Amino acid sequence: MSEGHPHEEIRHESSPYAARIRAIEALLLEKGVLTEPEIQDRIAYMEARSPANGARLVARAWVDPEFKERLLSDTKGAAQELGIDASGPVEFVVVENTPAVHNLIVCTLCSCYPRAILGRPPDWYKSFEYRSRAVREPHAVMREFGFEPPEGVEVAVHDSTADIRYMVLPMRPPGTQDMNEEQLAELVTRDSLIGVSVPATQGNNGSALQRLPRSVRRDT
Ligand code: FE
Repeated sequence: MSEGHPHEEIRHESSPYAARIRAIEALLLEKGVLTEPEIQDRIAYMEARSPANGARLVARAWVDPEFKERLLSDTKGAAQELGIDASGPVEFVVVENTPAVHNLIVCTLCSCYPRAILGRPPDWYKSFEYRSRAVREPHAVMREFGFEPPEGVEVAVHDSTADIRYMVLPMRPPGTQDMNEEQLAELVTRDSLIGVSVPATQGNNGSALQRLPRSVRRDT
């Protein structure tokens, strides 16, 4: 790659994956498959997405039952209503937590995730440990995130694919009837959109990751 490349600032990443990606990128540029502006556009697109989008969708669904129905039946259309562009060939499915069913999202094969809405997945989501254990022992995994569904609640694990990406619609926490939409959105953590935890009203800022044992937290 040429000197003064715009990605220079991330060269300190020394993992074999990072090196491989840079090599592929260099080849794609060299062969004229992609241009530098196209790569920058794509990075900007991904950087503009974050779990805050998911939180806004969930909070709106909590306060507006008709929006909730649209979110469940036509996720892209509902996202568009809030100015979130999730258009593209990938299908999005929002799965609703209920008093009877708790949903958990995984991609057992690799790292499929609703990136067009939530941005990049956390590193642990891509780890072999999470991908295998989420289906084999979902309760143990959720316990490690500091959460366990109440007795008798069915746990539904959804395996994402290249074509279908899932996002969890958590239940609105009790005691939040006086909160407005914006305040409600602040309760919705990234982890609760994946289903390894649920939104909490007090004392949970979504930092459960720090409590994770090595087995799940190990990055790729
Ligand atoms: Fe995948």
